[in-house]
Amino acid sequence: MLFAHDTECGLVAAAGLVNTAGLDREEGLPDVAALDEFVAVHGWTGRHEHTDAELRQVHALRPRLRRIWYADTHEVVAIVNGLLRESHALPQLIQHDDEPYHLHAVPRDAPLATRMAVEAAMALADLVRMDELSRLRICDHPDCDNVLVDLSKNRCRRFCDAGCGNRAAVSAYRARKAASHS
Ligand SMILES: [Zn+2]
Ligand SMILES: [Zn+2]
Repeated sequence: MLFAHDTECGLVAAAGLVNTAGLDREEGLPDVAALDEFVAVHGWTGRHEHTDAELRQVHALRPRLRRIWYADTHEVVAIVNGLLRESHALPQLIQHDDEPYHLHAVPRDAPLATRMAVEAAMALADLVRMDELSRLRICDHPDCDNVLVDLSKNRCRRFCDAGCGNRAAVSAYRARKAASHS
């Protein structure tokens, strides 16, 4: 493990959330049911209202988080500090649901979007401190703008989880084949 467990989970969840809103893609969180599923997949516990208002707050967070993938260190710091300040973050070690001690910086009954923002900000604060922002990348596939977090040991990850690695391999294969026939 490169980072603390909660840091890695926070980064993966933040990337997953950003990728529910692509530039040319279908809305990944079209309704409350889709948000319920996202929350379950990423193991979010605590307050969850299942309302349109909550969904809108989560939607509003996405462009702010996406910005982080394109920003330089100073801008990342400004965004992270802004998110922590706005949410009145106060880091506390807690234990719940069989998880070992980890950091929460807002209470578990804070709104879902606030907790998502703060968890992402705390994880990103770790990346900044470890000088590892280069692990935040955009998918290498030309038709994809998904963000990714490279948690591999040798920093070799190039594609997002949406099958772009396979797509790229297939196109490369076809290109080779076409070249050999010409
Ligand atoms: Zn927790
Ligand atoms: Zn991709």
